[in-house]
Amino acid sequence: MTAAAPFLPFAAPEIGDEEIAEVIDTLKTGWITTGPKAKRFEADFAEFLGDTTLHCIAVNSATAGLHLALEALGIGPGDEVITTTHTFTATAEVVRYLGADVRLVDIDPATLNIDPALVEAAITPATKAIIPVHYAGLAADMPALLAIARRHGLKLVEDAAHALPTTCAGELIGTLASDATVFSFYANKTITTGEGGMLVTRDAALAQRAKVMRLHGMSRDAFDRFTATVPSWYYEVIAPGFKYNLTDIAAALGIHQLKKARRFQQRRTQIAHAYAAAFAALPLTCAPMAPAGELHAWHLYPVQLGDDAGISRERFIEKLFALGIGCSVHYIPLHQQPYWRDRYQLKAADFPHSQRAYERMASLPIYSRMSDDDVERVIASVKAVLQG
Ligand SMILES: *Cc1c(COP(=O)(O)O)cnc(C)c1O
Repeated sequence: MTAAAPFLPFAAPEIGDEEIAEVIDTLKTGWITTGPKAKRFEADFAEFLGDTTLHCIAVNSATAGLHLALEALGIGPGDEVITTTHTFTATAEVVRYLGADVRLVDIDPATLNIDPALVEAAITPATKAIIPVHYAGLAADMPALLAIARRHGLKLVEDAAHALPTTCAGELIGTLASDATVFSFYANKTITTGEGGMLVTRDAALAQRAKVMRLHGMSRDAFDRFTATVPSWYYEVIAPGFKYNLTDIAAALGIHQLKKARRFQQRRTQIAHAYAAAFAALPLTCAPMAPAGELHAWHLYPVQLGDDAGISRERFIEKLFALGIGCSVHYIPLHQQPYWRDRYQLKAADFPHSQRAYERMASLPIYSRMSDDDVERVIASVKAVLQG
């Protein structure tokens, strides 16, 4: 292991010949925007989740899917939506798109997921919905959150950008009793279409509204226009909708990525276990594991430096970088971001667990394309930085 070894990026997609052939096929058919492949990807997704009665709506990002779900649930000005401060800004920004306000709450330090007790304490008469995030790919405490939502008459939309595939009490995320679940296929997520997402719901009315709003508020979507056997130029605009449809070029990637999703997850799980075993004696806290028998998607592997690490998080990341290892930080909590901090006058002291985790955390590379040598190199580098 030397600094001359090729740089190991923090994240990299695994794209195979199947994806490439499917994209070429799409390009050759001449139908490159939303069409038969997007439709097939939606059907395959429901099958992957093990329930073909689910409505799966392909969109061009998870952000779009979250926006559509909240719009369909009628979230608007005067409403409040509760979510975790320890997330990416997309989780919260969609609430502001609709003119509603965000109530950020702290995490449970053991899981780094939203703390249900704090959710319940943050509920006001204006609260309409809760958006948990399955941080890093570990399921949030859905039984508690579902019970709170039921008790207070709130909507529940899962930000499952990290959670394909993840289980909670043996059930795949996407199949629980929430109002909607949204997955991301961004370039560094557990499966990718470059950019893309999937909105999953059991609610037929929500699905209907989201499909219309996905494409300009038109009452017939591009699928119908493509498959119709009669001249089909007629449509009605029933709302000022959005442009959130997934292209067939992207769906071509998704169809094959989905077939590999379990293998990718198994490989990431192996890497997570290798890290946990190798780091047991080091002055750091490993990423929390899933309860026995549950799937953890392992989108991220965040470690937290201990007080006895003798090195700052900044220096830790710099030193790993110098050894050719890419790292990142997930996340700079929203209460630290100027927009959210200033709009809601947020103080770090109000989010002690997220703040403490943020100051100590670094996300290590964890993806299916990593070889055993790559994993060993990350382990050796972390040991060298902390012990050297
Ligand atoms: C990546 C991510 C999103 C947004 O996903 P896009 O598909 O890029 O819109 C939302 N929430 C979380 C927690 C994410 O990590």
